Amino acid sequence: APILAIESSCDETAVAIIDADGVLLANQISTQIDFHARFGGVVPEIASRKHVEAIVGVVDAALDEASRALGLEGGPLAPTELAAVGVTQGPGLVGALVVGIAFAKGFAYAAGIPLVTVNHLEGHLFANLLDSPDLEPPFIFTLVSGGHTMLVHVCAWGDYEVLGETLDDAVGEAFDKVAKALGLGYPGGPVISRLAKEGDPHAIEFPRAMMHSHDFRFSLSGLKTAVITYIDQQTKAGLVIHLPDLAASFEAAVFDVQYKKAAEALRATGVRSYCLGGGVAANPHLRQMLTEKLERDGIRVHLPPVSACTDNAAMIAMVARRKFAQGDFASFDVDADPNMTL
Ligand code: ATP
Ligand code: FE
Ligand code: MG
Repeated sequence: APILAIESSCDETAVAIIDADGVLLANQISTQIDFHARFGGVVPEIASRKHVEAIVGVVDAALDEASRALGLEGGPLAPTELAAVGVTQGPGLVGALVVGIAFAKGFAYAAGIPLVTVNHLEGHLFANLLDSPDLEPPFIFTLVSGGHTMLVHVCAWGDYEVLGETLDDAVGEAFDKVAKALGLGYPGGPVISRLAKEGDPHAIEFPRAMMHSHDFRFSLSGLKTAVITYIDQQTKAGLVIHLPDLAASFEAAVFDVQYKKAAEALRATGVRSYCLGGGVAANPHLRQMLTEKLERDGIRVHLPPVSACTDNAAMIAMVARRKFAQGDFASFDVDADPNMTL
């Protein structure tokens, strides 16, 4: 029977339904971005309230979509026709997570089916399975999202060795802060990557922090400051800022370090396979550059579908399916864990 999965860790209320073979039957998402954009970032209080407003409708839409995908007559799937409910436990905003968890508990209890909790970061990893269902560890995984930047040695599913993380800002956070400094709105990633397409990545020399640190740690706050300083200097001197060149040069500084460290991690572990995840993995330049360079190094590269890089429930469903098959169920008194790590 199918599994229903709920994601509500940040500003997306998402529900997916997946069958036992991993085929997606439904994939619904209700985004709150417009409500947060005017504040330049996610406001936790608004996020919680919007999840409460959206969740019933998104679950209903998913049950309806799944029924149509299965060619069933007679309306939406019934909760009792499901095998289990999966839900994101963390990391994320606590007030947003609890909405999904409370709903999932009530839904599972009423339907008499098990509850499965999912680590959101493992979800970003499992997004790779949506296009590469046969992907098998070991591989090196780069997570670049709004809240995390890590290099991980995936020894086996569920067995993760975190090689290094960011010391300060996450990559997605740097995109968002640079966009905010330029008055380009929230989120920053999509608009910066659109601008970068027309720009010269060599136009401005920005620092590549930790590039030669011979470890797997990252630092983004210096680059962010360098970009903001550049903007201030140009503005004070009365010079126009060429946005495409700025965007392309910023991206190049971020992505050069990402390639260098990924290549070093692959060399250090002797692993020959690589995958990427998190919202920044939607960036076309990062996808293209990593694929080209790593394949030239003889590495097999896997990427999640662009639509499954930012937060979604399909990736949560992929993890839930695996945990369900292992009988790894959660107790009904489980709580949100806003600081969960891999
Ligand atoms: P986490 O997963 O660490 O808890 P999150 O769920 O908030 O954080 P995601 O939804 O995975 O983060 O990713 C959102 C981030 O991805 C934002 O910072 C956004 O700017 C960035 N992003 C989205 N699209 C792009 C893109 N095309 N290029 C670069 N960054 C992007
Ligand atoms: Fe995320
Ligand atoms: Mg998001």
